[in-house]
Amino acid sequence: MNTVATESEAPRPVILVVEDEAGIAETIHYALASDGFAPEVCATARQAIERFTAEPPALAILDVGLPDMNGFELFRRLQDLPGGKQVPMLFLTARSSEIDRVVGLELGADDYVAKPFSPRELVARVRVILRRSQRLATPPVEPMGSEANEPLALEKK
Ligand code: CA
Repeated sequence: MNTVATESEAPRPVILVVEDEAGIAETIHYALASDGFAPEVCATARQAIERFTAEPPALAILDVGLPDMNGFELFRRLQDLPGGKQVPMLFLTARSSEIDRVVGLELGADDYVAKPFSPRELVARVRVILRRSQRLATPPVEPMGSEANEPLALEKK
């Protein structure tokens, strides 16, 4: 078993999962949770908007076929919420048709996964997207300890 102490100490990134099919939602929840994420499942677009409004997640996975709203429409609504444009989003497309994928990517989604999908592949995609977005968002890190060393050099009068 691989245990990485530093990973368990870091806050788990919240992944909003919007999926109305309970079986699929459970599979995704399990795969994400066992990989160090904090998944939160919503079965409807309305719930997802409420959840997102309360606090934007680290990433959102949107099913295209939702009972109360098309996933593409939900994507647009989430993007318009405060902080919405900073949250990477990935579509789950039910059909193998190219149309869903193309529309999703044209809207500006970060990725899509076609059902049926491998939970491992989905989690891997989530990791890649998060790494990419963190690299863009995080400013260069200054070397640690430089502050502690500096006063010695500055004390020369
Ligand atoms: Ca669905």
